[in-house]
Amino acid sequence: MSTPGHSGRRESSCPLDCPDACSLSVEVEDGRIVRITGDHRNPLTAGLICGKVRRMSEHVYGAERLVTPLRRRGAKGAARFEAIGWDEALELVADRLSAVRERWGGEAILPVCYGGSNGLLSQDAADCRLFARLGASRIDRTVCAAPSGAAHRGLYGKMPGVALTDYVHAALIVIWGANPEVSGLHLVPRIEAARKRGARLVVIDPRRTGLASRADQHLALRPGTDLPLALAVIRWLLSTARADEPFLEAHTTGLDALRQRAEPWTFERAAETCGIEADAIAAFAELYAATSPAVIRLGWGVERNRNGGSAAAAILALPAVAGKFGVRGGGVTASNSGAWDHDPLAAAGECWPSTRVVNLNQVGRALTAAEPPVRLLFVYNCNPLATLPAQQKVRAGLAREDLFTVVFEQVMTDTARWADVVLPATTFLEHTELNPSYGALAMSLAPAVIAPVGQARSNHRVFTELCRRLGLARPDDPDTEQQAAAAVVRSVGDPAALAAELQSNGVAAPPCGNAPIAFVDVFPRTDDRRIHLFPPHLDAEAPAGLYGYREDPAPSTYPLTLITPAESRRTSSTFGQLSRTLARVEIHPDDAAARSIGDGQPVRVFNDQGEVLCPARVTAALRPGVVSLPKGLWSHHTLSGTTANTLCPDSLADLGGGACFNDARVEIEKTEATDPPGCGSVSTSTPLRKE
Ligand code: SF4
Repeated sequence: MSTPGHSGRRESSCPLDCPDACSLSVEVEDGRIVRITGDHRNPLTAGLICGKVRRMSEHVYGAERLVTPLRRRGAKGAARFEAIGWDEALELVADRLSAVRERWGGEAILPVCYGGSNGLLSQDAADCRLFARLGASRIDRTVCAAPSGAAHRGLYGKMPGVALTDYVHAALIVIWGANPEVSGLHLVPRIEAARKRGARLVVIDPRRTGLASRADQHLALRPGTDLPLALAVIRWLLSTARADEPFLEAHTTGLDALRQRAEPWTFERAAETCGIEADAIAAFAELYAATSPAVIRLGWGVERNRNGGSAAAAILALPAVAGKFGVRGGGVTASNSGAWDHDPLAAAGECWPSTRVVNLNQVGRALTAAEPPVRLLFVYNCNPLATLPAQQKVRAGLAREDLFTVVFEQVMTDTARWADVVLPATTFLEHTELNPSYGALAMSLAPAVIAPVGQARSNHRVFTELCRRLGLARPDDPDTEQQAAAAVVRSVGDPAALAAELQSNGVAAPPCGNAPIAFVDVFPRTDDRRIHLFPPHLDAEAPAGLYGYREDPAPSTYPLTLITPAESRRTSSTFGQLSRTLARVEIHPDDAAARSIGDGQPVRVFNDQGEVLCPARVTAALRPGVVSLPKGLWSHHTLSGTTANTLCPDSLADLGGGACFNDARVEIEKTEATDPPGCGSVSTSTPLRKE
């Protein structure tokens, strides 16, 4: 394992919330990063990385980087801080944790962590030991992948899906609710290579993405209607003898119940609900039935609405009904996170007490209305103001004078500006990390490549120290990051083989290998190794039953559907401080003309929850009735300082307690030009950044 040093080339890997977990090569001169490129240890990423991480040094050494602990000096949210030492900061935080627990009980403490790092040492490790031993409230991380995860677990026991490297073998690729050109870009060259070999490409997305514009077929359905589309194809397969009956008989349960739920969905009825032509659905169904190997990439755009879990389940059922497994490049890919059988609590040597659970999508409610109230909020690996729905409730919660907020972060985020204490965190280049991947079938060990910038400290170090100060440390707790990494490795699959591969190569494949074929190399991880097409527990959980469609929530006053897709400048909200360009709301020319809105016109996007002021971009890339603002925006990206999340409800999807971002319904009107808000000036008695 390499150690932080002065000059040379170091190996690393990316733990950001992206499916691919690129293996990286980092050039260091005089202890500073001078270049980051990709290397070939991860077979999926094979030397190619995104522009965000190529320019990661702007994040590591940027003006917004936090380099010393800070304590609030002014009013909440005024972002006036004074620099303090680590000892004082940790004593202050430990005292408040202890006092809150003593006076109001551990559940008055709420840790909020999600998405800033997928590293196994930065989440569910030493943090888990601290908060479990305090008896804190638990956070259910539901912002992304909860509905599709529940469906995937219920139907397949999270069986690993088609390796992204195997898409090159497919004759038909269906990209359903994903945009790999901005998230998980390593799929794109595989799609292009498959197409050169004659593969057909279908994209199902309300937006005409880059891939959609090059596809053989683009189904631009209404957001939230993926379920009727998938059920219509299933119904047709089952009613026209195009289903693979022998496979269904041998490898599935629950077919009759699925058939019953799909029965009402003729092509015509689905077409009316989805807002597309019945002939287009028929053409897609015929192509899917006739082509093999056929693979579906199930994206996370599908799940972000009231029907999201059932939609994901129906799409996951399609390859079983059509008999697409058993060949390389055939089947479906959802999250591959199940490949490791990793139990973080077991790895952390911890058992969480049965304290109250707060849904991450409803943190705003928890901070403003929970009983008993949350008294201490500890935010790490997360920027709730930029990522959670019902932004105005989150802000109201952060503004509470009786709430003590700790934010442990790398840069001064919108959320950190509301903190009582800000603790500076290392980036993944400054600490040891163990990176699983939910796209690539790979795990990477990434030693620190530079020393911490300023006084930044790793999650492991800070949470371990807080445990010690609070008298919660135990003799067998891992002391160093290396010991913590070893503890995680011991909890995964074949620990000896994994440890050896990580030591020799830095990247290891899971026990199923890095390109398993379903029903040849891997089987459902359900109790009977069958696909459960109708898990009773999912049927009981979904308000309209599994595969039950809930109608569009649009009231006549807010006729436009707001979607919030990812864009290439940020990984969710990470790196938001680096771009200062105003975001634009995209609107179809017909909708723009009906409101006398021209390209570049400042507009007000609003509903009963709030408003966002920003310029418009008039584009035919969206279907009429749908408008789009990027996800993960920061306050400086709009004219109002509010972002799309201010308009998104904190209602929950049918499965997994998932987010319903795409159930936001809005109206748009012209407004006068207004000056953008200040770009977040922060007052401190010392610079945030070490000069
Ligand atoms: S964000 Fe994704 S594409 Fe970019 S370096 Fe990280 S893993 Fe690779």
